[in-house]
Amino acid sequence: MFKRVHIRLTLLCAGIPAIITIILSLCYLYVSEQGLYKNRFQAFQNDMNTIATNLEQQSVISMEWLSKMETQGNYLFFVLDNGIPFLYNRLKDDIETSNRSKLLEESQAACRQMFEVTPSTPSNTYYNSYHLEYEFTSASTDTDYLGSVIFMGERSSSLQIYVLSSLESLKEQMRVQRFHFFLIDLSAVLLLAVFSWFFTGRLLQPIMESHEKQTRFIASASHELRTPLAVILSAAECCNTAPPEKQETLLKTIQQEGLRMSALVDDMLTLSASDNLRFSTQKQPTELDTLLMNCYEAFEPLAKEKSIDLSIRLPEEALPLCSVDPKRITQVLSILLHNAVSYTPEKGIIILSLSYRKNHFYLSVADNGIGVSEEDKKRIFDRFYRVEKSRSSKEHFGLGLSIAQEIVKAHGGSIDVTDTEGGGSTFTIML
Ligand code: ADP
Repeated sequence: MFKRVHIRLTLLCAGIPAIITIILSLCYLYVSEQGLYKNRFQAFQNDMNTIATNLEQQSVISMEWLSKMETQGNYLFFVLDNGIPFLYNRLKDDIETSNRSKLLEESQAACRQMFEVTPSTPSNTYYNSYHLEYEFTSASTDTDYLGSVIFMGERSSSLQIYVLSSLESLKEQMRVQRFHFFLIDLSAVLLLAVFSWFFTGRLLQPIMESHEKQTRFIASASHELRTPLAVILSAAECCNTAPPEKQETLLKTIQQEGLRMSALVDDMLTLSASDNLRFSTQKQPTELDTLLMNCYEAFEPLAKEKSIDLSIRLPEEALPLCSVDPKRITQVLSILLHNAVSYTPEKGIIILSLSYRKNHFYLSVADNGIGVSEEDKKRIFDRFYRVEKSRSSKEHFGLGLSIAQEIVKAHGGSIDVTDTEGGGSTFTIML
């Protein structure tokens, strides 16, 4: 499920910027190509101005001059005298092919179409020279050209000079530019895809972890609830056929298991409230030494029952008040003391202590019981985690320490476990 979400998020994260990048680069490419074409057209017009001025100053158009201009500017010249090709054209025609004359015809046709100018008609108006520029595609050479027709004339005769310039180099320049843009866009899309894949992966990580945690939590909760439920159901079934004296025991079992289920549901609701940030703490200035003393007194009978020596160590000097929710902190200490009593054998020792150093309160429950291995220390705060040895115990669901941790976290404190000197474990809360 997450894989599909990951792919979709990547497509979304990379797709939108990629489309924007491509659209922007296409716009830029269009503007740039328009600019290139405009520059080329203007340069061609300027050259035609220069050529026309040169021609005006010459009394005779020499073949050397035409040939020189052709090679210098990569232009093709066609000179028509009253519509008849000049000697220069005819010579070139002999040397090259008939392509030149075809080109001239195409150019004349394009010019006629564009400006409605009939090149063979001599002009009656007096003028020195003027020129018109246009673009056309030659079908014979399959190339785009810029063309210009320069009219030189007097009353009696007229001279038309067609100058053509191939746009092939400009097209090549545009092709190279388009290829570069394609490469840039491709790299941008690839980079965006890679970045989005990692970025969305990182975003999804905590969601995936929380989902996995939740799934495990539900599986463990169902498992834990099923056991007392099975006992209740079978006891209820036996009740129907059992003799009256046995019925009482069965009803007691049902009640006990019901209470166990109720305790488990309470624990689960506490954790769920903490997960949904609905975990309320009513903090108030509290005397922690008094709070510890109350816990000590509450657990003393239970410890005595197991012949465990439960003692309390409080600092002699007066301590400042601590802003905590007394009910919640009592709940944490009860969990720790309950565990200490459960995991400490008879005649063991449990010490409940309080100290104050550098603006921090340290509350600890130390026992000399079975202790917690290094491996288990990392996991005992996980939900439903129980060390193998304590799995058989019916009273323990493996939720106590996770609830304790949530409460301490809600107070901005921390809880950890260390080994007690000489064996056993010490749980310390820092507030
Ligand atoms: P449980 O309800 O099973 O005690 P907890 O979350 O309180 O659940 O504790 C998790 C596990 O940590 C316990 O199953 C037990 O194995 C271990 N543990 C907790 N407290 C102690 C302790 N004082 N000494 C040894 N093991 C402990």
